[in-house]
Amino acid sequence: MADMVFKAKSLTKTYMSGELAVHALRAVDLEILTGEVVVLLGPSGSGKSTLLNIMGGLDQATSGQLFFRDVELTALGDGALTAYRRKHVGFVFQFYNLVPSLTAYENVALVTEISEHPMRPQDALALVGLEARMDHFPSQLSGGEQQRVAIARAIAKRPDVLLCDEPTGALDSKTGIRVIEALLSVNAQLGTTTLIITHNASIQDVADRVLFFADGQISKTHKNTSRRAAAELIW
Ligand code: ADP
Repeated sequence: MADMVFKAKSLTKTYMSGELAVHALRAVDLEILTGEVVVLLGPSGSGKSTLLNIMGGLDQATSGQLFFRDVELTALGDGALTAYRRKHVGFVFQFYNLVPSLTAYENVALVTEISEHPMRPQDALALVGLEARMDHFPSQLSGGEQQRVAIARAIAKRPDVLLCDEPTGALDSKTGIRVIEALLSVNAQLGTTTLIITHNASIQDVADRVLFFADGQISKTHKNTSRRAAAELIW
């Protein structure tokens, strides 16, 4: 189990929508290794966000097991899940949710002030190539730059895993590629295990492994023998 970060066994999530059961995850088995970059592809509604949210401690499974290293997340209550999330998980979402009245530096500092072993905000911003823009407010930054600030904010507490749900969903190809570059740079320099949900199939080339989702299950996995650099992506 040494270099295993997540292990899911028969992980199942069923939402009740009135009388109707929605089978978001159907007995998913999965292992994620430390330091891997994994891309999750598949049609809308196939269960990708549900899996990411359970891995991040934002949601609870209906049945089955999920381990983070030796800890069974599916056995934890709300308080312990929150502590797990604070300590180990960074999130990046499609929308950046930066505080508009704070600079890039201050947005990152919001997190570092409450973390145990954070990096300095300027170092987190340097990792995503924004050291020269620290004193800029979100409105003075492009969408891609704002997303890179959000990545700096997510990684400043040195999380073990970075969970990204459509991080380039609102961006054009050029800025999207720069955001993927920032994620790969963090992975290369800090070894952060990185999961990326995307609708953009071209992003799969930067992954170590691609998981294809269909109807609440992983229908196929693909291991890349060599990863492409973000700059080589044809969007
Ligand atoms: P994806 O991320 O692949 O688009 P999701 O994991 O968001 O898929 O959704 C999987 C299924 O679960 C969908 O049918 C979706 O409508 C349903 N679902 C997700 N969240 C909820 C919820 N909170 N309540 C009811 N159904 C939900």
